[in-house]
Amino acid sequence: MEVEPIPTAAAPAPSYAKVVGPPRPTQKPGPSGVQRAPRRQGMAPTPPMSPVAGSATVEAIRPHLSRWVSRNRGTLTYRMVQILTGHGCFGKYLHRVAGREPNPECKHCGAPLDTAVHTLVECAAWGPQRHVMESVAGRIDSLQSMVTAMLRSEDNWAAVASFCEAVMLQKEVAEREREEDALADPVRRRRTGRRLRRYAHLLPP
Ligand SMILES: [Zn+2]
Repeated sequence: MEVEPIPTAAAPAPSYAKVVGPPRPTQKPGPSGVQRAPRRQGMAPTPPMSPVAGSATVEAIRPHLSRWVSRNRGTLTYRMVQILTGHGCFGKYLHRVAGREPNPECKHCGAPLDTAVHTLVECAAWGPQRHVMESVAGRIDSLQSMVTAMLRSEDNWAAVASFCEAVMLQKEVAEREREEDALADPVRRRRTGRRLRRYAHLLPP
C-alpha cells in the first residue's frame, strides 16, 4: 500500500520537544535523529522534569536499544516525538504539565484520559488513520509494538510517521481552535504579552 511521504528535515523543530531536553544551537539531528530547535531569544527556562518522565519511551525502546541507536535510516519528526514521549497535544499533558486544559479528557472521543497511547491505540477518532498504518505495519497495541514495527522495515517506519503526522496535525489544529474560542475556559485562551513569554516553551511552533 502506498504511504504518504514523510515531512522530515524541512519541518520546523518542535517546541514540545524542548520540554524533553535543552535545545541545541544547531538544527543538526542528534544521535537519535531527533531534530532540535534553535534556542529562542527570551525563552522561559525549561521546567524541572519528574524522575519518571519519559519512562514509557524508555520501556518502548529498551528491548531494541542497540538496533535503535545503530539504525542507519529513519528520521524522527516532531509529531513522532510527541507520540513517543507523550509530550504534546494530549489532554493529560496539556492539563497536568502545560496547564492549558481544565481536564485531561480526550476532546475527540470523550474518553476521560487522553495520552499518547490512547491516541495511538484506542481513540475512535483516529480509526481510519490507524487502519492505514496497521495495514502496512501490522497490529500496533502499545508504544513498544510501534517501535518494534518501525525498526522492522522502512515501509513500517513511513506508515507510523504518516499516522503521527496526520493525527497530531489534527490535534494541534483542534487545540488552536479551542485556544481561540472566546467562550473557552480562560486556562485555554491564547496567552499574550508577559503571559505568552512565560509559557513560550510550552506552546506549539
Ligand atoms: Zn480519544
